[in-house]
Amino acid sequence: MTDCIINANRLIGRLQELATIGQRPDGGLDRQAFSAEDSEARRLVVAWARDAGFYSASDSAGNLFLRYAPEGTENEQPVMSGSHLDTQPVGGWLDGAYGVVGAIEAILCLKENGTRLKHPVEAVAWSNEEGSRFLPGMLGSASYVRHLKIDDVLGNLDAGDIRLGDALSVFLKATPELPMHSTSRPLAGYVELHIEQGPVLEAAGIPIGVVSGVQGYRVMEVVIRGRAAHAGTTPAKMRQDAMIGAVNVIRALSEYFQDDEDNTRFTVGRITALPGSPSTVPDLVTFTIDIRHQEKGFLDQAFSTIENMANLHSRPCRATVELLEILEPVQFNPTIIEVIDNCALHKGYKTLRILSGAGHDAALLATRYPAGMIFVPCENGISHHPDENATTEDLIAGVEVLTYCLKQLAMAHN
Ligand SMILES: [Zn+2]
Repeated sequence: MTDCIINANRLIGRLQELATIGQRPDGGLDRQAFSAEDSEARRLVVAWARDAGFYSASDSAGNLFLRYAPEGTENEQPVMSGSHLDTQPVGGWLDGAYGVVGAIEAILCLKENGTRLKHPVEAVAWSNEEGSRFLPGMLGSASYVRHLKIDDVLGNLDAGDIRLGDALSVFLKATPELPMHSTSRPLAGYVELHIEQGPVLEAAGIPIGVVSGVQGYRVMEVVIRGRAAHAGTTPAKMRQDAMIGAVNVIRALSEYFQDDEDNTRFTVGRITALPGSPSTVPDLVTFTIDIRHQEKGFLDQAFSTIENMANLHSRPCRATVELLEILEPVQFNPTIIEVIDNCALHKGYKTLRILSGAGHDAALLATRYPAGMIFVPCENGISHHPDENATTEDLIAGVEVLTYCLKQLAMAHN
């Protein structure tokens, strides 16, 4: 049987159409989880699935499943592929969207070609991957693999004090026609297509990254408590300046976590000071730490290291550290990795084995099912930014490899 040929114009056209939803004046995207824009994107994708003759369904976490089950496959476990439709508040047009649109194109290609399959194939859009509006991120995939119960996070608030549960229920009502799947179903395999979000593939001039695994991370919140005081009248020696404490802690930690091999990624991405007046010594400074590494032992140790150093370097203020989010490092399934390698080779594309520095839904899926990821290069390694981009050639290459992978996985008996 000949390989099916993807419809490149349809793929790029749909990516561009999706990019008009939540578009910012600076050309970036703001389509955060469970927003009106996120609902609109979901409705568009459901319309594409309807045109394709796929069966669409949702679950209580807001995940969207678009299923193609040729006759005789109905009782088999599906092979699944997808990513997410939500973006950061200043996001790009490909992060997540490429994996969803790419999966739909790949499956449609198999359907149009009449490829004989043993398993159904399903495109998926996992809800709230980014976690920028509501914590935790990767909510939909975490719920699917039962790492969390959706009911336990419905009370989480966004910056405007909107409950996750309320936003999610409005979101689900935007597609009232979708049947609800109450439980997660076992999968024969999962492959996620994504832009690299880093500079490695582009620098190497290689179109396909075969992802070996995903770095783990810990997200923490550090609170430094001092004493508020008048900025003009309080002598330096009598101050308990929470901002100076925070600055000292951040400097000490960023030096401590620097390593020659560049295996550790340490980031302070958010800092707030109270009472927040220019002329008052702040008494409460809160900042986040995102620390990433490929070894679980290192990450487990990092928490107590951070706690000890925060206490030491914030003096005379006091520090507390709270763990907000955990993702353990993940190794992808060797068989799926081999299939991706072989499919890229079959399509004539060079590959590079690569470790993902960013978290992805695939990392959650890999804890329960055979999973893997395909990366394509992105321009200057930029992501989570209006300038996020990739060449048409590379976008097509990724979907060609994905299509062939889904075919191989869905044709095999397992
Ligand atoms: Zn993403």
